Amino acid sequence: MLIVAYGFRYCAPFRRNLLNYATLLHSTSHLSSRFHYSRDSLSRMEHHRPSFSSHLGLAKTAFVLYLVILIHAAGSTTEEITCDPGKLGVAKATCDPDRYFSGSGIKKNSAMVGNLQRFGVISSQKVVEVMQTIDRALFVPNGASAYDDSPMGIGYNVTISAPHMHATCLQLLEEHLKPGMHALDVGSGTGYLTACFAVMVGPQGRAVGVEHIPELVSSSIENIQKSEAASYLKEGSLSVHVADGRLGWPEHAPYDAIHVGAAAPEIPGPLIEQLKPGGRLVIPVGNLFQELQVVDKNMDGSITVRSETSVRYVPLTSREAQLRGN
Ligand code: SAH
Repeated sequence: MLIVAYGFRYCAPFRRNLLNYATLLHSTSHLSSRFHYSRDSLSRMEHHRPSFSSHLGLAKTAFVLYLVILIHAAGSTTEEITCDPGKLGVAKATCDPDRYFSGSGIKKNSAMVGNLQRFGVISSQKVVEVMQTIDRALFVPNGASAYDDSPMGIGYNVTISAPHMHATCLQLLEEHLKPGMHALDVGSGTGYLTACFAVMVGPQGRAVGVEHIPELVSSSIENIQKSEAASYLKEGSLSVHVADGRLGWPEHAPYDAIHVGAAAPEIPGPLIEQLKPGGRLVIPVGNLFQELQVVDKNMDGSITVRSETSVRYVPLTSREAQLRGN
């Protein structure tokens, strides 16, 4: 069962279709059992049918509910999970295909941000502003559906994170990305979040991206140059470096905010060391099962860790292991 559940995670569109199908089946099974009930109440000859059909209906409903729960459980471990059923209600979370805005024809960055607000992913005005300023289309591969709420392959066995994950991390770090602050983006990939950080901390601050694939560093610099963050790159408050991000980037430490865009088996010590007292690190931790952890360094240097949500990221690993695909 676990294998089936995990299988879904790699197949978001298929899962979405299944969800819609399951929801549809769920609602039609309700309709059909109601229909049988009223028909049966008209005829004594068919007196046995209500119990049979309601049993059948019940079994069908139970099966479909089980399917929905199973798919949801699989979804909750993926980076693509886009709904908080607690906030939205399971029915809404499972049957609203717009939520994923896949194939929805969304052609504008502003519409993508609007949807993230509408579905309660973004509540912060600052995050709205920065995501409106940095156009995601400049960071995804040519021809990709830039505004779909899903991760996308960018080569080298990695992905650009889904918009809702970018939004979630920006929001978790918002108070640590004020003008003049220092931010580190480990596993900066396309450079999208590094660009957002640069805009938020402004020209007096520092936004540093560290990425271990040199080709991704080059293309991320090209992406940033086309974006509204270009001036920060030019003037030096934004920089991207080829390095092993597990070691952080001591040159501009300590950091108010550290974001890690790949899952670490455990929190790397150098990242904790390079965090400023009062600073925050957001990092996915785990292997098969991962949690997005929020690590706060208190003013006395002690650490508080909490889990925000279950996620699915590519591993924070060595370049060789990544290119080998393990
Ligand atoms: N947040 C980025 C990329 C996410 S994918 C975006 O949305 O565009 C994770 C990135 O981490 C990949 O680009 C991968 O190459 C990088 N990565 C993995 N292990 C790393 C390591 N040890 N050091 C630096 N970068 C690493």
